[in-house]
Amino acid sequence: MERWQDAVEQVVGADHVLTGERISEDYARDEGLTTKPLMPRAVVRPATTAQVAAVLRACHEHEVSVTARGSGTGLSGACVASEDGVILSFERMKRVKEVDTDNHVAVVEPGVTLAELAEHTLPQGLVYPIMPGEDSASIGGNVATNAGGMRAVKYGVTRNNVLGLEAVLPTGDVIRTGGKFVKCSTGLDLTQLIIGSEGMLAVVTEVTLKLQPHFPHRATLLLPFATLDEVTTAVPKLVGSGVGPLMLEYMDRLAMSSMTKSAGLELGIPQEIKDKAFAYLVVILEARSSERLEQDVEFAGEQAAELGALDVFSLPAQAGSDLLKAREQGFWVAKKGGANDIVDVVVPRGAIPAYVAKVSEIASQHESLVVGAGHAGDGNIHFSVFQPDNVVRDRVMRAIFEAALGFGGAISAEHGLGSEKRKYFLELEDPNKIALMRRIKQAFDPKGVLNPGSAFD
Ligand SMILES: Cc1cc2nc3c(=O)[nH]c(=O)nc-3n(C[C@H](O)[C@H](O)[C@H](O)COP(=O)(O)OP(=O)(O)OC[C@H]3O[C@@H](n4cnc5c(N)ncnc54)[C@H](O)[C@@H]3O)c2cc1C
Repeated sequence: MERWQDAVEQVVGADHVLTGERISEDYARDEGLTTKPLMPRAVVRPATTAQVAAVLRACHEHEVSVTARGSGTGLSGACVASEDGVILSFERMKRVKEVDTDNHVAVVEPGVTLAELAEHTLPQGLVYPIMPGEDSASIGGNVATNAGGMRAVKYGVTRNNVLGLEAVLPTGDVIRTGGKFVKCSTGLDLTQLIIGSEGMLAVVTEVTLKLQPHFPHRATLLLPFATLDEVTTAVPKLVGSGVGPLMLEYMDRLAMSSMTKSAGLELGIPQEIKDKAFAYLVVILEARSSERLEQDVEFAGEQAAELGALDVFSLPAQAGSDLLKAREQGFWVAKKGGANDIVDVVVPRGAIPAYVAKVSEIASQHESLVVGAGHAGDGNIHFSVFQPDNVVRDRVMRAIFEAALGFGGAISAEHGLGSEKRKYFLELEDPNKIALMRRIKQAFDPKGVLNPGSAFD
């Protein structure tokens, strides 16, 4: 380890190799509710791709395991170092290298956060549309987790919005994939293989992102429904209505009341509607002109009424943005309320009614409370699981995942597996797929130095 440290200090400078008391507690954890904190042996802070390559070469040579870290907002423990491992932090690689208004792309270093990127693109009338609930998340972390979020129903997830990468392999070799273009049929698609690989295959040092035009006009519709069937039947109909919702969020009655209460938000919904509502849809529309927006709001409102909404509330702009903020705070509200774990499964949109009913059944069988909210427009439901007994909670989680797979879905839609969902993945996924993934990992990382303990060993 001493020889490794000397080698790495020569590359990045001793100031940027933190050890002992110079390592803050923050590097030991992420935001996952069950992540076990673990202090890394060292934190290395490179400033360039050449430095990243040299550091990885040293890790490979000395067989020191290394875990990339962006902003540490992940929810699966994936950015926590392994025992005796080191952290490769991207906090100094924060340049927005280019906002190219001809090709509608941005080229950025991985430590740039979503909030910082928006400051560069919005003045050019452009947006990077991916919006996980935390805008302090880094682009590198977004790429590694294939982050999604509320706008995925319109713009897709990270893998639909990344055109190219520069990445460093665990051996220290640098590769470039894709570029400032959409089409590429030249060999295997390494961009897509690296996206969502949770820092296990390569370390990302530059990302070419697709940008979208910014629509200045927005409206928020709040739609209460009396039954699960009605609310979930409305989802595909609203998505298919042609108004192209920017967001289509589902909140069950409990999630809605806890989020609005915690934000001190009064939306003017009469008590008799609140009493009847089983769940709510929040639909956000965007348009280039206010006239177009009004037409879309009217059409979506009519559709919602036909689909059984108890009422259609078109919220004033401030209330709409307050509700969106309250929704973004959903995770913190659940955490404060004592949630013991968070699940981010996905099922085909059409399977949501049956799946949510099955999860209620699982919850009552295990005397647990499971509260649901999520990005219903793309079938991604987040459940907060309240069950303090580890053994019982483990059964609840397994049953929730098994049911999702049974409906043709997946264990994680956007947070990734990390160290926390890994055991369910290894137990419940197709063993042939896991074996193939292991062989791919082996091809990228023969000594297994990159993020060991995440997803598979
Ligand atoms: C309140 C809250 C709400 C959230 N809502 C959503 C949501 O709606 N949708 C969603 O998708 N996520 C959501 N998340 C999860 C989180 O924001 C995302 O997973 C985010 O993409 C992680 O970015 P990060 O920079 O914090 O990554 P980190 O947590 O630092 O790391 C995450 C993973 O990325 C890897 N990594 C980081 N940088 C690199 C790099 N340069 N090269 C290779 N690997 C790298 C790490 O090794 C780790 O495996 C939410 C989180 C919070 C706290």
